[in-house]
Amino acid sequence: MSFAGLSLLPRLRPDLRLRLRTHLRPGRRPSRHLITAGLLVLAVLPLPLLAAEVNLYSARSEELIKPLLDRFTQETGIKVNLVTGKEDALLQRLQSEGLNSPADLLITTDVGRLHRAKEAGVTQAVSSARLESAIPAAYRDPTGHWFGLTLRARPILYVAGKVKAEELSTYEDLADPKWKGRVCIRSSDNVYNQSLVASLIAADGAEATETWAKGLVANLARPPKGGDRDQILAAAAGQCDLAIANTYYLAGMLIAPEANQREAAAKMKVFWPNQAGRGVHVNVSGAALTQGAKNRAEAIQLLEYLSGDQGQTWYAETNGEYPVRPGVPVSATLAAWGEFKADGINLTRLGELNGEAVKLMDRAGWK
Ligand code: FE
Repeated sequence: MSFAGLSLLPRLRPDLRLRLRTHLRPGRRPSRHLITAGLLVLAVLPLPLLAAEVNLYSARSEELIKPLLDRFTQETGIKVNLVTGKEDALLQRLQSEGLNSPADLLITTDVGRLHRAKEAGVTQAVSSARLESAIPAAYRDPTGHWFGLTLRARPILYVAGKVKAEELSTYEDLADPKWKGRVCIRSSDNVYNQSLVASLIAADGAEATETWAKGLVANLARPPKGGDRDQILAAAAGQCDLAIANTYYLAGMLIAPEANQREAAAKMKVFWPNQAGRGVHVNVSGAALTQGAKNRAEAIQLLEYLSGDQGQTWYAETNGEYPVRPGVPVSATLAAWGEFKADGINLTRLGELNGEAVKLMDRAGWK
């Protein structure tokens, strides 16, 4: 961020303008050779000082995004200044910095958070034909305040040998007493579960979803604890037969350095629920242009790059996610799980229903 503000020469090189001006006497026009000398100063300046840049706050860790940003810089000459942090901390930082924030772009996960950022007023609308044609309408904000860049599914995972695929059908079915003591899922304060419950409210209504949530809680094998990986580990260890988790956790565990993670993941199979109906619950990681973005054009260019062919293939594969763009190939691991029908609801709706989902889960006793 050291060169922030120096990207647009005529506007942002006050030091140079000052240098030229101090050579001028009042009332006199600058001589031709003085101007030539000034231009020469510009011409010999080191390149990085003149380079355009974009300042990025990213909730994705550096290894998940840096190589792609480097490629973007190579291709466009636009430098990317990366600040990584936790999702909620970055949002808070943007809120407290307001229009003075150095950030041009926020990258974060889950529509619940992207919607929160929009509601908090820290984002601004982008209109880009390239983004609109690259990203399906369901995976971007209708008013252009955020754009999905990778897709993640939250299916039902089951322990091979303990459950048959034929016994499974829908999320709704997880409240059936036949699953008593057999389900592992993380706590309700997690945004992934909040978005999942929001999708059920949208499909079945609040009343039916509350009844469902009570049934699900009654079927839990243990009080919710840990993250998605912990649900998979618990299922593999025999504590439950079903686990709800985002697919990239399973993909990551299959190639994890730790043997216990690989072994646990190998015991699990993926079941795509609600295939005869609305489809499996999906969510995105995505990006939003900040309210006070100073490098607006460069930030939009980066957004477009991330939604392009190269960006989509690499970005989705690196974290075991799916591209948001139809027709972009998925990794071999994901391909092995088969194709699925995704819930086509506009994800913005899930952001809108987040508050209702949180209250409902609380009433249902979902810890
Ligand atoms: Fe995650």
